[in-house]
Amino acid sequence: MSEGFVDLHLHSTRSDGSSTPTEVVERAAGLGLEVISLTDHDSVEGVEEARAAGDRLGVGVVAGAELSAHLDKRDVHILAYFIDPTHEPLKSCLQMYRDERQNRAARIVKKLNQMGVRITFEQVLAKAEGGAIGRPHVADVLVEEGFCFSPNDAFGKYLAYGKPAYESKYVMEPAEAVEVIHDAGGIAVIAHPALYGDDELLPQLAADGVDGIEVFHIKHNAGSVDRYSNFARENGLLISGGSDCHGDGRGDAVMGKVAVARSVYDALEEGWRARLSA
Ligand SMILES: [Zn+2]
Ligand SMILES: [Zn+2]
Repeated sequence: MSEGFVDLHLHSTRSDGSSTPTEVVERAAGLGLEVISLTDHDSVEGVEEARAAGDRLGVGVVAGAELSAHLDKRDVHILAYFIDPTHEPLKSCLQMYRDERQNRAARIVKKLNQMGVRITFEQVLAKAEGGAIGRPHVADVLVEEGFCFSPNDAFGKYLAYGKPAYESKYVMEPAEAVEVIHDAGGIAVIAHPALYGDDELLPQLAADGVDGIEVFHIKHNAGSVDRYSNFARENGLLISGGSDCHGDGRGDAVMGKVAVARSVYDALEEGWRARLSA
């Protein structure tokens, strides 16, 4: 019997993805994936819906989230798995992020207005459809209103780091994010290490108490996979992987394009159980 596949890094409309949690699970079922994790940015709001769809369609759904943190002024993302989405301290932490995301989006709109780009905060809010508001939603409005050709153009012209409408947001230190995740019964995993372009960050993150590292990711080439597998082995870290799919219209819908074997998931779950009973 051939081994099945999983995808442990997926976004929905509860953050900046284009598919609802139900649609994410439907796509996963269509691809024959056995287990997925919904890892929306700073949100666990889609987990319940995804689980209901998973029960119906026979797809295992792990409660997850992708928390933003800052290390040496750089953005790093920490994936949370097996968390209790109803855990109050986790929920209030995510609410803080949500408030800060709204404030940040409002500051971005203000900067754009000062440059003569007439869009409103309400338009951006409407794009987020109640999910965690982010720069992709601002980009959508900029395209819709004819200020930019594409979301990429919007980031390149206005929204990316160093561009005129860029605004930073308050985020936690990685160690704080790890603590919140552990407190909520989950494990913390360094997301897409290759994207930081600086492996020197990794020993610090390991020292901050993360449990694992994302080895398989759509932006990781074979060299990255080797490098981070070794780093995991040398540091006693668990291994995770997923596509980081944000759905159609947010780049390509890449769900299932990163082959992550079922055994990777099983080892991750085993590591989580071992941590719980330690
Ligand atoms: Zn990320
Ligand atoms: Zn992601």
